[in-house]
Amino acid sequence: IKAPESKQATTLLVAVRCRPITAKEKDKSRDILRVVDDKVVVVLDPDTNKEYLDRVQGRSKEKRYAFDIAFGANATNKDVYQITVSNMVERVVEGLNATVFAYGATGSGKTHTMAGTPEDPGLMVLSLQAIFNLISKQEAEHEFDVTCSYLEVYNEVIYDLLEPNSQHLELRDSPDQGITVFGLKRIQVSSAEKILELLNQGNARRKTESTDANATSSRSHAVLEIIVKRKQRNMYRAQVLQGKLALVDLAGSERASETNNAGQKLRDGANINRSLLALANCINALGKQQKRGLAYVPYRNSKLTRLLKDGLSGNSRTVMVATVSSGDDQYQQTINTLKYADRAKEI
Ligand code: ADP
Ligand code: MG
Repeated sequence: IKAPESKQATTLLVAVRCRPITAKEKDKSRDILRVVDDKVVVVLDPDTNKEYLDRVQGRSKEKRYAFDIAFGANATNKDVYQITVSNMVERVVEGLNATVFAYGATGSGKTHTMAGTPEDPGLMVLSLQAIFNLISKQEAEHEFDVTCSYLEVYNEVIYDLLEPNSQHLELRDSPDQGITVFGLKRIQVSSAEKILELLNQGNARRKTESTDANATSSRSHAVLEIIVKRKQRNMYRAQVLQGKLALVDLAGSERASETNNAGQKLRDGANINRSLLALANCINALGKQQKRGLAYVPYRNSKLTRLLKDGLSGNSRTVMVATVSSGDDQYQQTINTLKYADRAKEI
């Protein structure tokens, strides 16, 4: 698979990743997703018992959507990284900002994609590895400083995932630093190996809640922020360039299906994740801005969008990886996610 040439320069790249049916699901789930030409996702009709007439008269629930990139069930985290994130990492080392989201229902593969496992490390780990590789090639001319923080936004409260007993943390807006989280731990890292361990510890601290007997849904957004500072060596008063890469494992999208109404002003329902809705509204507004110029982008409406503002505006790049599971029992979630991603792609 190759990254689409023309897309390299655009603001938002939308990728979809289909996860395979796991060994446990094999008996009760049928694979209904097909990826065509590395771009199109076909969702087959989950109902195999349909009357013949219904099928021939086009009353099929089969749907297809096209994206910048579509990854099938065989894609590894490395494949996803190479095509969607690798060229952004170079920009971050040069002082620019970028943001990567994993969006999808609980169980669709967001955490697998972002954190991954020791055998198949995810985008967070691979990005950090690449940053260190790039740095090692430039260390003769430049001095580097790489720090990471890992936080969660849960019910509009920020917690530090690198601290065992985190207090509620507050956002601060300062003229020189922009938006920062006061008291958030920043750790200096010098290799990528340690990060997966820290991510796993952090993920174990994330708040989850049971929605029904067999599903653990997560309403928490986890944000890894990697800040790279670069300064030219042997230069009097050398300027410090700062690039920021935010990688976000979003809350489960199952409660945000209202966000699928294209173009409609989104409501903030009682049970709906405020930050997830605010993000959809910002992405929507950014799309309008790009097409028609001037549009109000409502960053201030949630903690998550305030936090990510720098990585979404200006000349930042954004990647959205929408994750879906291949099982027929996930049909409705899959359609909801693909519609959301389809709308984001308008940018
Ligand atoms: P989410 O974070 O969206 O709730 P997870 O990343 O925890 O979902 O994935 C749910 C399950 O599916 C986990 O057991 C995970 O290991 C498995 N899984 C997810 N994506 C893949 C993939 N691409 N390949 C193989 N297994 C996957
Ligand atoms: Mg998860």
